[in-house]
Amino acid sequence: MEKRKDLVVAALESGTVIDHIPTDKVFTIVQLLQLDKCTDQVTIGNNLESAKFGKKGIIKIANRFFSDAEISQLAVVCPNIRLCIIKDYEVVEKKQVTLPDELDNVVRCANPVCITNNEPMKTVFYVTDKVNGIMKCRYCGKEQHIENIKLV
Ligand SMILES: [Zn+2]
Repeated sequence: MEKRKDLVVAALESGTVIDHIPTDKVFTIVQLLQLDKCTDQVTIGNNLESAKFGKKGIIKIANRFFSDAEISQLAVVCPNIRLCIIKDYEVVEKKQVTLPDELDNVVRCANPVCITNNEPMKTVFYVTDKVNGIMKCRYCGKEQHIENIKLV
């Protein structure tokens, strides 16, 4: 049984806990969710010991609940993270992050002549193979593997 004491960082009354973050991805997630602009309480822990995963990172955001669309964008940088939704100090929902069908303005196109690299516009990628992490640019058709992507 999972006990509250497993949560290294202090308990949250209400909000979202993002757990099992690879240590090198913590600040990428901060950036993706624009937590630097968040006015609610944000707690970031990194290089925490985890029995199952070695070292890990964790982010707690008070009073924020992310949409499935926002959460799915995180799958691009770390497919295995887990979100816990906390209400009144209880975990009311756990979400496993999965790749979405479409990525809006998350990934930069690797094709230098692609219109998205030459005009002030958002990128759109279709995830064509979720198992292998292949995505395709809506505008030029360039395929990219999740291992090689650059974020917008
Ligand atoms: Zn493109």
